[in-house]
Amino acid sequence: MEKGSLVVVSGFSGAGKGTLMNNLLSKYNNYALSVSATTRSPRPGEKDGVSYFFKTVEEFETMIDQDELVEYAKYVGNYYGTPKAFVEKKLQEGKDVLLEIEIQGALKIKKKFPDALLIFITPPSAEELRSRLVGRGTETLDVVNQRLTRAITESEGVEAYDYILINDDIDTCTEKLHNLIRASHDRACAHLNIIEIIRKDLRRIEYVK
Ligand code: 5GP
Repeated sequence: MEKGSLVVVSGFSGAGKGTLMNNLLSKYNNYALSVSATTRSPRPGEKDGVSYFFKTVEEFETMIDQDELVEYAKYVGNYYGTPKAFVEKKLQEGKDVLLEIEIQGALKIKKKFPDALLIFITPPSAEELRSRLVGRGTETLDVVNQRLTRAITESEGVEAYDYILINDDIDTCTEKLHNLIRASHDRACAHLNIIEIIRKDLRRIEYVK
């Protein structure tokens, strides 16, 4: 069976990544969404083991020490990290594994897995970003402001991504994202071993006379 791809989806807080991930998962069956560990507190409605694995700082640091995370980063005062076991299992099963993570984590993934696909999602404007963050009503205004400030830093690292998608309309954006991921299966790096086999065969094949 062909191994799945690792797909990193980043974007400003409030870009609509969560909805995009849910759309992909409900419309197609080739995806698995990695559930991260975090030390931030659950928002209303968030369930442990579904939205995140909610951890204390001590628990998180133990996960770091025991090498249980593919990557981790600090974001606005909290730890966030990707548990290794799930990602490895799903890739082996041939699933495309979605990591919805911020930019520092994305860069670490690119280093460890050069074939990973990195996609950055942005709303069409700063104004729209602010109104989505405020409208969500899940964070204090102080945290909203910290996230807006953080977005400036994140905007400076986007060159590392393979694609930037503007999330103007969620359905259009979902389809674009799905098509990019499908196309990535045919990137040169995904087929190098096939070319290797063909080259070997070409060397020993009987040439036509
Ligand atoms: P939120 O608190 O809004 O759920 O997430 C804050 C930021 O942390 C988002 O940009 C989200 O993509 C990122 N994030 C979530 N899980 C992980 C993770 O496992 N690793 C890293 N590096 N970032 C994560």
